[in-house]
Amino acid sequence: MTKPSPSVPAKPNQPTSSDSPASFSTLAVHAGESRQKLGDSITDPIFCASTYTFTDTQSVIDYIEQDQAREEYGRYGNPGERVVERKLAALEGGEDAILYSSGMAAMVGLLMTKLSSGDEVIFFDECYHRSREFCTKHMARFGVVTRQVPACDYEAMASAITPQTKLLVSESPTNPQLSCVDLERFAKIGKENGVETLIDATLATPYNLQPISAGIDYVLHSATKYLGGHNDLLAGVVIGTKESLEPVRNLRGIMGAVNGPQNVYLLTRGLKTFALRMQRHNENGQRVAEFLENHPRVERVYYPGLASHPYHEIAKQTMRGYGGLVTFLVKDADWRETADIVDAVKIPRIAPSLGGAESLIEQPLVMSYYQCTPEERKQYGIPDNMIRLACGIENPDDLVEDLKQALK
Ligand SMILES: *Cc1c(COP(=O)(O)O)cnc(C)c1O
Repeated sequence: MTKPSPSVPAKPNQPTSSDSPASFSTLAVHAGESRQKLGDSITDPIFCASTYTFTDTQSVIDYIEQDQAREEYGRYGNPGERVVERKLAALEGGEDAILYSSGMAAMVGLLMTKLSSGDEVIFFDECYHRSREFCTKHMARFGVVTRQVPACDYEAMASAITPQTKLLVSESPTNPQLSCVDLERFAKIGKENGVETLIDATLATPYNLQPISAGIDYVLHSATKYLGGHNDLLAGVVIGTKESLEPVRNLRGIMGAVNGPQNVYLLTRGLKTFALRMQRHNENGQRVAEFLENHPRVERVYYPGLASHPYHEIAKQTMRGYGGLVTFLVKDADWRETADIVDAVKIPRIAPSLGGAESLIEQPLVMSYYQCTPEERKQYGIPDNMIRLACGIENPDDLVEDLKQALK
């Protein structure tokens, strides 16, 4: 019989989960890792292996018959990937996590596993454009029906449920309007109707929001954003119970939407400073939102940390902080005057994405919705004078000074 590989410990050394910020950062540093690693290294080794070897035929048979904890082939798992999966599950307070090559691969992997021809999925309509597109354009080809109801309209969601409904989906906060879902209410609608629930909590992160403790079945993140945190990798993750994720993991092994070992290491490395970075993202987001709200050229600011935000109360009750993303409308500006402000900032770079060390700025009309009709943009809540600023971890005074000169 073969011994389990030393790189795949049966019982990883994991601090216990707790809500306090101090314990959260301890989890971010240590959870999912074995205390003594291969080669006595303090960091996890990067295994550049596409396949894993067996000593003889009997060891292959033992592996299959005894369901041994070891690697077999790169598409099914990598030791470094298991480390980061355990770390992410621990941070989220979930049983299991599955890592993907991107957030969209995670979304596709979960939806493809859970939905079959004739099934229905219901979305709150403020969401990442590609998630909606995957459902309405592609799942539709396989006979899955997508229904969209206005964000945070719980009655509309409940009454859209039919016997064919299999999944309720929302983001929280939503992108780019930052509406915050009452997760307990959302989970309750699912449970009362025997329908599973999925929250894409990319904008919140497990530092700011814990959907599983509110009763949500699946939490999804684009780990490309705050979890990786350095604008240098793509990754995605789904967290849930071991049992419910087993078929999802099996399909990932067939889809092959797995990450490379170097990228997986970068994600583990990024997570070491996750709690620290989130503190600064939260501070910067709040500071910039307050500055913008008091600026005469700003018509409206969308930020859950502002008392003026329609979902401030639910955010205050359920979130530790409100993240680095701030969306605002420029007063009496057409799309070109709005673009001029985007072009005038000196620190944030013009790019899609969020959650990295570098601040990023974009005009949703141009960056994500340029090919939509004005009617579609109206329906999705994307005015021409909207700017989305993803605060990085720079000095907040510098960001405010920069915005001040850009808005002159
Ligand atoms: C970026 C993003 C995604 C997609 O993630 P990728 O890693 O880019 O594939 C999904 N949902 C939200 C809310 C996002 O911001």
